[in-house]
Amino acid sequence: MKTIQFTFFSMLALMCLHAQAQFKVNTKSIKAATTAAKAVTLSDDEVIGYAKEYMVWMDENNPVAPDDDELAQRLAKLTSGLTDYDGLNLNFKVYLVRDVNAFACADGSVRVCAGLMQVMDDNEVLGVIGHEIGHVKNKDSKDAFRTALLSSALKDGVGSQGGTAGALSDSKLGELGTAVANSSFSRSQESAADLYGYALLRAQDVNPWYMATAFESLAEQSEGAEKASTMQRLMSSHPDTEKRIKVMSEKATKEGFEKPAK
Ligand SMILES: [Zn+2]
Repeated sequence: MKTIQFTFFSMLALMCLHAQAQFKVNTKSIKAATTAAKAVTLSDDEVIGYAKEYMVWMDENNPVAPDDDELAQRLAKLTSGLTDYDGLNLNFKVYLVRDVNAFACADGSVRVCAGLMQVMDDNEVLGVIGHEIGHVKNKDSKDAFRTALLSSALKDGVGSQGGTAGALSDSKLGELGTAVANSSFSRSQESAADLYGYALLRAQDVNPWYMATAFESLAEQSEGAEKASTMQRLMSSHPDTEKRIKVMSEKATKEGFEKPAK
């Protein structure tokens, strides 16, 4: 029996099904910058550098499933062949937390929460992962991360190291987490990521109907009282779930696929 640890986390919507998964972030409030904002620009490489650093911190501060964990092995099998996909360098890990969630970071890190893997079958999880990879491929993750970097208290420290990403202190990383938590994707970004996930399923020879059933699983979960608080947040970040189910299912049907039996 797996022990799912409680999360301490304040909410963070590092995107995805993003919902507001409860990943651990420093809850210290962001101090309003009192100095005039500097005109800071960050190159893509700098943003990726900070994203890598951020993910090291995230992995150190969240319960990453060890290699011999059942869910870790399931994810590894699911994502074999995806570490180098569509020109992207990707890495995948399970967080042993109950959140029904997943997210991707600008550096190509994809994290899937145990709670999501427990309510979805493999093909649905793959659909969600495809959606997340879509955000990376479409640079949504990078844009959101850049915005978080520049809008947080970091703006006084970021970009001042002469063009390279400098090491961030724990408190700075916490502030960054809070800023990331406040970011979200637009409706069109979500739709594009859905289409990307759909295409990924097809490329993997999986019935793309699973994109729609993944969302159906989420909608069903939201009706369970026990998880209401988490799920309401999740669904509120994706108010168009019904519409997205419709778009994905109609596309699959039009392309000759039948809804899989559950
Ligand atoms: Zn998304």
